[in-house]
Amino acid sequence: MAGLYIHIPFCRKKCPYCSFVSYEGRLDIINEYVCCLIREAEIVTGKGIADGLTFDSVYFGGGTPSLLPAGAISKLLDSLSSLLPLSPFKDKEISFECNPESVRKSLLTELAGAGINRVSLGVQDLTEKGLAILGRVHSVSSAKEAARLIRDFGFENFSIDIIYCLPGQDISMLELTLEQAFSLEPVHISAYELSVEGGTRLYDMVRKGKVLLQSDESRLHLTRFLEALLEDRGIYQYEISNFAEPGRQCSHNINYWKCGQYLGIGCGAVSYLNGTRYFNTPSLYRYMTMVKQGHVPVTEEERLDGEARFREAFVMWLRMTRGADLAAIKSRFGLDPLNYYGDLVERMCAIGLMVIEDDKKRLRLSNRGRYIANYVLSQFV
Ligand code: SF4
Repeated sequence: MAGLYIHIPFCRKKCPYCSFVSYEGRLDIINEYVCCLIREAEIVTGKGIADGLTFDSVYFGGGTPSLLPAGAISKLLDSLSSLLPLSPFKDKEISFECNPESVRKSLLTELAGAGINRVSLGVQDLTEKGLAILGRVHSVSSAKEAARLIRDFGFENFSIDIIYCLPGQDISMLELTLEQAFSLEPVHISAYELSVEGGTRLYDMVRKGKVLLQSDESRLHLTRFLEALLEDRGIYQYEISNFAEPGRQCSHNINYWKCGQYLGIGCGAVSYLNGTRYFNTPSLYRYMTMVKQGHVPVTEEERLDGEARFREAFVMWLRMTRGADLAAIKSRFGLDPLNYYGDLVERMCAIGLMVIEDDKKRLRLSNRGRYIANYVLSQFV
């Protein structure tokens, strides 16, 4: 299986914590950008870059895809279907990210008509205080209204994104967000701890002491509370930051965690094909110029040798709650993880950070290991 990712790098306003490739405003060129996406797909096809692949999932991410103007989504999907090897729509997961402030009936009508069957809504928090901390442009009531519209339009495969461990957030504030989130009836929740990335406004505020982050102890406390409450409501963890009702896991993202192949198109998009990672330029101007001139807009690439691919796949696979399928990794890379890492795995198991299961066929992080996943996984990189 392979995934197709389409990046829409436009936002109403840049959030202070955001390190994604996204540009505030610039909606004046969004139609031109859509033409560039189609042109990029033509170039990819012309150069045989997607030969031999079949795309079983499509993901519109951003940025804010819900800012796409009327007609653009159908035009894009029609063009991409004719240019790239997409499996039949009925067999495919097609996800579309929305932000509450740009969800409207006409958009949802177009999504449904274009065959989009999974909608992910970036609510991030469901208290006014939390939204103000995150610098979001939407309100709690607009997030609820957007969720209601999405459900009313029949999008059953409905996910929401939440950010927690906000400065000053306590259990009762998180609980309020989660209870309101459950009332939106999502079948999938992505819950990310707030992280501070270099180059963001949040980074500057933290450095200048204007924002005080949660301590490690508080983060652990909030994470345990969140995981327990989600499980109690039948939304089970399947990856460090992702939870779903049974059968509602995101197959596009599972492909990433299994280090499957994917093609990313758009400014700042990343592809992983035949062991090489390709990075499209993050500059909007350069992206559009390169594509208009008939060039693949890749400005950086990273070739991984067989051993590096094995190590990366092993680490990525461990992000999933079920852990790494050791036989599958061995047959794909010709290396046995237990032999390769030797006593490192034994030590991790001995101190309770990892668990070997199913007659040594599967290795996963323990609950304790998951809480310090960055440390544990860094040992295997
Ligand atoms: S809406 Fe999302 S992509 Fe856009 S600036 Fe905010 S966090 Fe970044």
